[in-house]
Formats: sequence, C-alpha cells, structure tokens
Amino acid sequence: MTSLRSLPSVDCLLNQSADLIAEYGRPLTVRAFRATLQAIRGDVQAGKEIPSDEDILARVESLLAAWTKPTLEAVINATGVILHTNLGRAPLSKAAMDAMLAASAGYVNLEFDLVTGKRGSRLIHAEALLQQLTGAEAAVVVNNCASAVLLVLSALAKGKRVIIPRSQLVEIGGGFRIPDVMKQSGAKLVEIGATNKVRLADYEEALTAASSASPLGASYPLSNAVVMRVHRSNFRIIGFTEEPTLGEMVKTAHRHGVIFIDDLGSGTFIDVVRYGMVREPTVQESLAAGVDVVMFSGDKLLGGPQAGIILGRAALLAKIKKHPLARAVRADKTRLAALSATLVHYLKDEAEREIPIWRMISQRPETLRARAEAWKTELGGGEVVPAESTVGGGSLPGESLPTFALSLSVKSPDKFLAKLRNHAPPVIARAENDRVLLDPRTVLPEQEPDLLTALREFLEV
Ligand SMILES: *Cc1c(COP(=O)(O)O)cnc(C)c1O
Repeated sequence: MTSLRSLPSVDCLLNQSADLIAEYGRPLTVRAFRATLQAIRGDVQAGKEIPSDEDILARVESLLAAWTKPTLEAVINATGVILHTNLGRAPLSKAAMDAMLAASAGYVNLEFDLVTGKRGSRLIHAEALLQQLTGAEAAVVVNNCASAVLLVLSALAKGKRVIIPRSQLVEIGGGFRIPDVMKQSGAKLVEIGATNKVRLADYEEALTAASSASPLGASYPLSNAVVMRVHRSNFRIIGFTEEPTLGEMVKTAHRHGVIFIDDLGSGTFIDVVRYGMVREPTVQESLAAGVDVVMFSGDKLLGGPQAGIILGRAALLAKIKKHPLARAVRADKTRLAALSATLVHYLKDEAEREIPIWRMISQRPETLRARAEAWKTELGGGEVVPAESTVGGGSLPGESLPTFALSLSVKSPDKFLAKLRNHAPPVIARAENDRVLLDPRTVLPEQEPDLLTALREFLEV
C-alpha cells in the first residue's frame, strides 16, 4: 500500500503556486489545497496511487475555478420563447446597457437636485418620460409588477372591498395569486360574475351593495370600494364568454364614485396585431378608457429591465409614493437608468429597431429561414423546418409567430439537449417529435458563432 507519508505538504505545494495565489488569493487557495489533499488521502487509503504534484495542482485549480464561478451565467436561448421568464425575460438594448453600466460605475444624481444642491427624488427619473409617452398625470417605478400590485392595493384598497370578476383571480406564476396579494394588502375580495361571464349588472350589484354598507350612506360617493381588472396574461377563456369593454367597466365604477385599478401585467406600447397576433391591451388604451391607476412590467413587452411601472392620477399616485411599502419595493439606480433609456427608444419611435425583443418579434419568416439555412450550411447537416416561436413571459397565451428552425435528428434528443446545456456558454433548445429544434429568432446574432461551435462539437460524436 502507498504510504500517506509521501503525500506532499500544503506548504510545499503552496510554494509552487504563486500564480494560483495571485489569481484566487491565499486563504482560498490554502482551503482548496486542504480539501484536495483530504480527498486524496481518502483515495489513497482506499488503495489508489498518490497523484503527481502536477495532477494535484491541476485538481486544486479546477476546484478554485468551480468555487469562484458565478452561478448566474449568460446562456444562448434557442427555444424561440422570446420573453422566457426562466431565462431572464427581455435582453436589454445597447443604450439601456450603456446607461446601466454608467450608473453602476460611479455616483449619480439619484436623489440629488443638481440645480438647488438639495435632496431630490429618485421618482422623477423615469416619470417625465412616462408622462410624455402616455399622457399620464404621474408615474412611479418600483421593483417589479408584482410589487406594484401589492403597493397599489395596500395604498388604495386597504380595508376596502375590491370588486373583481372571478375569471380574473389568476395565478401569475411561481404561486403569485391575486387573491393572496389582496389578502396581504388588507383588501377585501368581492368576486363577481361566473368563471366565463361577467356583465355590467354584476358590477352594479356589487357597487350598490357596497354603497348600502358604506358608513356615509347610499347617497354619498363610495369610499369603501375599488374596482380592479387583472389582465388574463397567461391563459385564455374561449367559447361561451362575455365581459364588458374596459370603457364600460370604468364608467360604471366612476358613476358610483369608485376608482378603477388596472393590472395589465405585460402592458405594451406597441400594438402586436401588426405582427398577426391577437390583441394585447396597450397602456395607452387603458389610460384612454379612463382607468385611475394602471400597472405593468418593465421586462415583458416593454423590453426593458425588471421593473413595475405605475401610472395614473396624480392625487392617487401621491398616496402611493408616500406609502411605507413604496420604500421597500423601490427601484435602484441601475434599473432606473436602463428603464429611462428603453423609454427613450419609444419616444424616438425606434423601439422596433433598437429593443431586442421587438427586433425578435418583428423578424420576418424569410429572414429566419435564411439564418437557419446558413446554420445548416455551416454545419453540413440538419434540416430547415417551419416551426412556431412564442412570446412567453405571461403574455399572449396561445399565440405564436411563424418561424423556421434548424431541426437535428440525433440518437437521443434528451441527451443531446443535456450536452448543449453543459456547453460553455450553455445552449438551451427544445425537442419536438424526437428531433432537436433550434429557433434563430431568440438567438442574438453575436451568439451565433458560439452556438455553431457547440453544435459542431456534439454533432461529430
Ligand atoms: C406578470 C404579471 C405580473 C407580475 O409582473 P412581474 O413584473 O413579473 O412582477 C402581475 N400581473 C400580471 C397580470 C402579470 O401578467
């Protein structure tokens, strides 16, 4: 049996490791040597040979690399799902990234008024752009749309009846359910209508009931109720259905002196009908219909950073801004910078050219076919087939965009997908009918060389 005594000491190995110490720091390098030597001792006791110093150093180096590798890494999205929530939703525009970088690198006038030299408000940074773009009286930007919903309900509906159709009591994803958020905010849920149908008469009935329960009496404007709409962003109700128009619902609420809150979820400034998809409600429509407060995400169809945007009447937004939760869910400087840069693209009418998700959505099938064909030529294999891309990210359920994908016939699609995921950078694709499909729509052009390298490597074996 090999003697453990011939195993080199940590000190002896450290003397040969100046570059590891320079790269990873002394304490971590020492820890890696200890861990490696301990593992080797176990191996030797189990009858294995003592490895050479060179092998030990190589093991230590790969351990150090593994320990310091970030768990969050860039991946190539070849799934064709544009707003892939698990892959971080919207990639940012160049201008948004530059703005984020500039804001991170140093100090900024986040809450500092450069004219007066006094304390300013972080809320002004995207507000003017949002006012210009939408005509809304006021705006607040928070961490994400889920926190916007929680904040708005806490500030405006605490202790009040929130009237909402049954068909809109949705789970948005990851267990985030509207009824639970209402409970958390101290609002009282009043469900109206049936799962498939809600009529104006249902709203009238609930508002009249709230009115007679109001401490002021039925002849006063209602202060104990709010009407809410939640966009069904991740499923659709079809068949025997009915729902009043947004304008009708808002008018009914206002006739009773009740405010109307609209959770759009995705919320888009651009009408997706021009890309052949069903209507997704736009932010402008909600405001035109007279809603008092509307909220939507920054990283869904807006194509910006994760954020929750709240627009609406100045008096109501003033209450929201003052609420203690507003501080808890506020947006940081980098996200405000990226959001502002994204909004400027809309203001300059260049969103479809500059914002990656709109470039992806607007890419024409001929262009996608040409990209898939070029991949096929490069690889000398595969087949270009018509397929469907989806928008994802809790928007446009059931809708798809015609695309062309590179289809690969491999022995085991699951094993092939696993190999692609293990590549650096990882490639995420999908299997369909025993073939692996790669959709060019969601692959950023600058990632194509890496994608092709990965495919070439695995197709050879
Ligand atoms: C996605 C969504 C939210 C949550 O938005 P996040 O930005 O993911 O927090 C809220 N409401 C609706 C209707 C949604 O679709």
